[in-house]
Amino acid sequence: MSPKADDADDHGDGFLMTTPWKPYACTVPAAGVAGTASVLSTVHHVTHTGPALRILADGQVTRGLIYDECILNDSRTTVVWLSPNNWHNGSRYGSVQFTFNFADIVARRKIYWVEVRKYKNHAYRFMISDKDLSKLPVTPYDPTKEEGPLRQVGGVWYWNSEHTAEFLLDSSLILHFCKKIDFVKHHEKMCAAPGGCGQLGQDGTNAAGRVLAFLLSRDLRGLNDTLIVTDPKAALSTAAERGILKAYEDLSRNLGGPAKSNDDVDAALRAALLQLAAGEETHAQATAKLIRSDDLLCRRLAELVKRHFKLESTALKF
Ligand SMILES: [Zn+2]
Repeated sequence: MSPKADDADDHGDGFLMTTPWKPYACTVPAAGVAGTASVLSTVHHVTHTGPALRILADGQVTRGLIYDECILNDSRTTVVWLSPNNWHNGSRYGSVQFTFNFADIVARRKIYWVEVRKYKNHAYRFMISDKDLSKLPVTPYDPTKEEGPLRQVGGVWYWNSEHTAEFLLDSSLILHFCKKIDFVKHHEKMCAAPGGCGQLGQDGTNAAGRVLAFLLSRDLRGLNDTLIVTDPKAALSTAAERGILKAYEDLSRNLGGPAKSNDDVDAALRAALLQLAAGEETHAQATAKLIRSDDLLCRRLAELVKRHFKLESTALKF
């Protein structure tokens, strides 16, 4: 007789039911118990700048095929990847981070165990779905009962943050639920994009500049709340200020062009920001050269920011 596996439970009826999540179980803090679980309040979708701009234009994170190695590869399942992890060494997925409340993601949906991937840091995966998944190789998981890495106690979500958590949402995710946009470091050596991205090791400043240039030039205001902080008072977030300053720095190059009226400067500025967002930095700088001076560029960019966010930038100085 083979020894009983660590991750199997004998239910007393001779039926050996595997609980593959058990090695990743965590203890929820309670009176007199410190616990090993962390509160799970937010999850992130991190992506490269190009896909991020498409997300902003579409107003949703569109689900896609699974390219990472996964038991669902053959099923042609399409998902949106979400994780609560923060990547100290940088993200393999890009520099633009969309943050959502986990409770919004799981509301009216069920949770299924997918698998664990034994990378250097083990990654456990759950699927979140409101569909019938009986044809997929996944296992229903009740976070209120199971001893696993994802728990729900008293309405509060917990996760085992000693490992990597990956959530596969099998529907597109509208940005109405996005709470925060931030810009994070790209991993120094690894990139998940097929063929790589040319952004290895970048700290997210370029992504910030392109995203803010995109939102300002396209007059997309629906996500303003994700770039504003309210404590201790309403102000642009550090992420927003970083992008605004980067856009200014990319365009201000001892300008001395003919455009000096507000209308002419604004037209050139908007066109230059659109080119900057598209990654055409050289063309953007050529367009910005139409503007009379760096100071005028700074003043009109500040005015554009103020109209857009109803808040003033503290990063732009003139
Ligand atoms: Zn990359």
